[in-house]
Amino acid sequence: MPDIYDPQNIFARILRGEIPASPVLETPHSIAFPDIAPQAPAHLLVLPRGPYVNWDHFAGAATDAEIADFTRAVAAVCRMVGADGYRLISNAGAHGMQEVPHLHVHVLAGKVLGRLIER
Ligand code: AMP
Repeated sequence: MPDIYDPQNIFARILRGEIPASPVLETPHSIAFPDIAPQAPAHLLVLPRGPYVNWDHFAGAATDAEIADFTRAVAAVCRMVGADGYRLISNAGAHGMQEVPHLHVHVLAGKVLGRLIER
């Protein structure tokens, strides 16, 4: 998969303030806000602010400061909503059925979430 970032993707527009969001967490390198179409009682998205397409792009190209900040931001959101457990999902590319080409981690919680994927 090419690491070509589309600066017009909807999360880039949210990060630039062109589209409103309601952040639950903001850090120097990361932001978290509710998913617009929640799939669980708690469904939050955590994004790095930088222009990274997916997890492997981020892990290879981001600074140590960005990686530490984002990892801790995901953990902080897990602590917010996941007292009884949670699931992290980060979709990438066509087979991962990624809709928005800016790295984001879904944090799902608030109910028993079932098995990992449909068979
Ligand atoms: P993915 O398939 O992993 O790329 O997921 C993209 C997610 O972004 C979906 O769960 C959408 O519901 C969510 N989404 C799309 N637009 C917005 C928005 N404006 N605010 C919050 N979540 C959004």
